[in-house]
Amino acid sequence: MTRRPLVIGNWKMHKTIAETTAFVHALRAMDLDTSEVDAVIAPAFTALHAAREALGTAPIGLAAQTMHWADEGAYTGEISPPMLLDCGVRWVILGHSERRAAAGELDADINAKVRVALAYDITPIVAVGETADEHAADLAHEKVTRQTRAAFAELSAREIARCVVAYEPIWAIGTGNMDRPETANAVMGTIRTCIAGLHDARLLYGGSVKPANIADLMAQEHIDGALVGGASLEPASFAALVHNARIGAAS
Ligand code: PEP
Repeated sequence: MTRRPLVIGNWKMHKTIAETTAFVHALRAMDLDTSEVDAVIAPAFTALHAAREALGTAPIGLAAQTMHWADEGAYTGEISPPMLLDCGVRWVILGHSERRAAAGELDADINAKVRVALAYDITPIVAVGETADEHAADLAHEKVTRQTRAAFAELSAREIARCVVAYEPIWAIGTGNMDRPETANAVMGTIRTCIAGLHDARLLYGGSVKPANIADLMAQEHIDGALVGGASLEPASFAALVHNARIGAAS
């Protein structure tokens, strides 16, 4: 089974509604070729509805950057899966290292969110990765194995196959210091086999991916796409990421 390349732009806490709308209009005007690549953007919660409206029928997916596991209730500041569906969201990033660090998200929370996302037919993109210290201590494989197994605990292989995993070495995020494609591929090979169900699932690399380096990543066996922060914020750069991902996957 060939795994269709996937490029996701994680905008983090960037862009107002007007800026999001302008980005989408600019991207649509570029007539992005998505016949062989899935392209997804993850704007801030406040701009999701506007992004959905601006995207119209364009073949570009819409992701949220996190969500709560409950349908509704006394959870001040949180956003539920039905609220995301209401905005036309079909993808959600779960367990990004910035959420684990700043919002105290635990493996058990991420597991609960993965289950609920699948129940709502929202595709979870589960982020895993090691810190700089863990990397230096050669603990990357151990760390991602633990995080991946915890995120998918008690799920069937069929359910896990519907998910995406993003390997994001924390020391590579926003630093300009991308992991070597071969090293990332080796860790991602570990992710693919550490639990049943990921054999045909898409595994993304994240951490300082740019239009200039994405093709080298895509040429690796276990790298099916990228989760991109900084370089996804400009329409031309995002379009180049999608274009170059297709070139790299075909090489
Ligand atoms: C990210 O936000 O998940 C990320 C990988 O950021 P950047 O591409 O800027 O390193």
